[in-house]
Amino acid sequence: MIKVEALKKQFDDLTVLESIDFSVKKGEVVCLIGPSGSGKTTLLRCLNLLEIPNNGTISISNKTVVFDKKAPTKKEMLALRSFSGMVFQGFHLFPHKTVIENIIEAPLTVKKKKKLELINEGEQLLEKVGMFEHRNKYPDALSGGQQQRAAIARALMMEPEVMLFDEPTSALDPQLVREVLKVIEKLAKEGQTMVIVTHEMNFARRIADRVLFMDNGYIIEEGPANEVLEQPKEKRTKQFLQLLD
Ligand code: ADP
Repeated sequence: MIKVEALKKQFDDLTVLESIDFSVKKGEVVCLIGPSGSGKTTLLRCLNLLEIPNNGTISISNKTVVFDKKAPTKKEMLALRSFSGMVFQGFHLFPHKTVIENIIEAPLTVKKKKKLELINEGEQLLEKVGMFEHRNKYPDALSGGQQQRAAIARALMMEPEVMLFDEPTSALDPQLVREVLKVIEKLAKEGQTMVIVTHEMNFARRIADRVLFMDNGYIIEEGPANEVLEQPKEKRTKQFLQLLD
């Protein structure tokens, strides 16, 4: 589903991703863990082309884009982007639109479907994330957990091949974390391919088929969640996990 080869990303003089290689199979849930500043968010943003890599290759769903000195074409960007749906730390809902309006906004502009049909689909997704009763509310009338569940439904509306989550619970009060993680677990059970940046190690242990540990712009260690989290091989992974205890 996803194949990333020799991916490099620099911000001016700072090299944030040195040379990243990994792949994700269809239906797989991969959690990205690692210390703050190790490049996890940048890697996720590169997959959705919110950041343009300097070098390397990204393939999603058989569409391959090679990054070099030449900027990717608009067509390449749109094609790659259409395969993934992104959920951010800070929800990013449109404040002046209701939940259901937020959810149908993107497909209304890019998909050739009638508004009523989209509202119908949107309501089904809101039902799935436990937000149907809040469909006509504005974001500022919702808790952070409710906003994040609406943001997940919004990303799902575009029927992405892969869902990308960037620390989806880190902006939430502790009592609201569970309701969002439960929705993500439900998607995992349904076979949704996902890449999730998370600090929630118990969640990663439960949900991830594979865990990638990043440090300083490299993937230092990867493997099944129980191996990487319970019996890490690399010194830096051990140190990172010990600090969390
Ligand atoms: P993580 O998600 O692991 O905390 P990030 O990918 O957010 O790491 O950041 C990795 C490094 O890249 C940090 O040193 C950060 O300051 C830097 N960085 C991230 N985005 C930018 C940007 N837009 N401009 C300059 N530096 C950035």
